[in-house]
Amino acid sequence: MRTKVKDLLKSKPGQEVTAKGWVRTKRGNKNIAFIALNDGSTINNIQIVVETANFSEELLKKITTGACIAATGNLVESVGSGQAVEIQATDITLYGEANPDTYPLQKKGHSMEFLRTIAHLRPRTNTFGAVLRIRHAMAFAIHKYFNDKRFVYLHTPIITASDCEGAGEMFQVTTLDLNNPPRKENGQIDYSQDFFGRQTSLTVSGQLEGELGAMALGEIYTFGPTFRAENSNTPRHLAEFWMIEPEMAFYDITDNMELAEDFIKSLVRYALENCMDDMKFLNDMFDKELIARLEGVVKTDFVRLTYTEGIKILEESGEKFEYPVSWGVDLQSEHERYLVEKHFKKPVIMTDYPKDIKAFYMKQNDDGKTVRGMDVLFPKIGEIIGGSERESSLEKLEARISELNMGRETLEWYLDTRRFGSAPHSGFGLGFERLLLFVTGMSNIRDVIPFPRTPKSAEF
Ligand code: ATP
Ligand code: MN
Repeated sequence: MRTKVKDLLKSKPGQEVTAKGWVRTKRGNKNIAFIALNDGSTINNIQIVVETANFSEELLKKITTGACIAATGNLVESVGSGQAVEIQATDITLYGEANPDTYPLQKKGHSMEFLRTIAHLRPRTNTFGAVLRIRHAMAFAIHKYFNDKRFVYLHTPIITASDCEGAGEMFQVTTLDLNNPPRKENGQIDYSQDFFGRQTSLTVSGQLEGELGAMALGEIYTFGPTFRAENSNTPRHLAEFWMIEPEMAFYDITDNMELAEDFIKSLVRYALENCMDDMKFLNDMFDKELIARLEGVVKTDFVRLTYTEGIKILEESGEKFEYPVSWGVDLQSEHERYLVEKHFKKPVIMTDYPKDIKAFYMKQNDDGKTVRGMDVLFPKIGEIIGGSERESSLEKLEARISELNMGRETLEWYLDTRRFGSAPHSGFGLGFERLLLFVTGMSNIRDVIPFPRTPKSAEF
């Protein structure tokens, strides 16, 4: 029976144990070898002590960095510093060799850029082990948070015929022969012959279907992959990312803000309480202020600010921005970060945006100019959450849809929520990888997802 390294390191010495994992390093001399073994259960390695006389030279030669072995022996108190216990090996099985001339993860200290080119092997590094364990813990904490609040996990579709954000940044899904697609008389492609009998894409958000769920189950959330064909090669955008989208009946925008703030804080708290080994490693290696920043956020009240107030602060800041600001412009991350990092030095929830820069479904304010959107802005990240109170009036929603020249045919089912038993409701979307950027202190979103998809890159 194999015991995980995480458990071995907490076990009492004086028993026979077996560890299985990948060799991080092997050092020593003619008589004795020390193998640092890692099995992914923790950032820490277990040390295997090998008296070379007891094993064949042939076997020992093959135990190199990256090789996979099982080691059985006595768990004893360690005399060396750095670990409480170690295994005095009596038996070693070699599962898989890793040729030192070709295994790419020999020495430590590879650049993040290089590691991206070997994303199939990078989970074996300390950094990606830590990030991927934290990613798992955060996913679990998200389900736990909503389950404790009795939200229903609603699985919204991935293939869709509607464009939720109206931004036209969708990946098309088709089985038509792209070299010779069927055409209508007017020359346009005849999608009635496509797999679904219509034009379809990968979803940019589960929100519209989420709203259907909220109008029946009260409070729901989705947690799934979303796809955006936006050609933005930034450290904060992926073409395929995961989003958490709660949607709640009977919540107004204030309730929505309170939920968003409590949600993020409780996730950060969960990370601090459950991922300390990994976070300490990331704190030491990448971002010396990581843990302090996370502890700060948990204790801080987020600033609440209208877009109009925010613009005023930016205009009066005297700061030179790459993109100039004035009322009506969409905020760039440089503006968001100025407010959060320089002006307030705390997370900000910004509300009441000009309607022209926000999606059609947001509740219109009485001023005729703004809508009840709310974005949560974070240090180092900029926008981490985007949400709103939704327009619940059928007439206003219909007016907005035609004002924007949106294809109504694909939205009739959505309008039914306003036609039958409409209710005030709100929701938001948290980008899972943006959250992970914050919690891990990584600076590029490509390094918090196992296999990133970005423009011109879909390997592995
Ligand atoms: P941004 O202005 O940063 O592109 P957005 O306004 O397009 O964000 P929303 O449409 O409101 O974002 O999506 C909700 C959340 O999803 C965002 O707050 C962000 O956390 C995340 N998100 C959006 N686009 C991406 C992306 N391309 N990659 C990763 N996360 C994203
Ligand atoms: Mn975007």
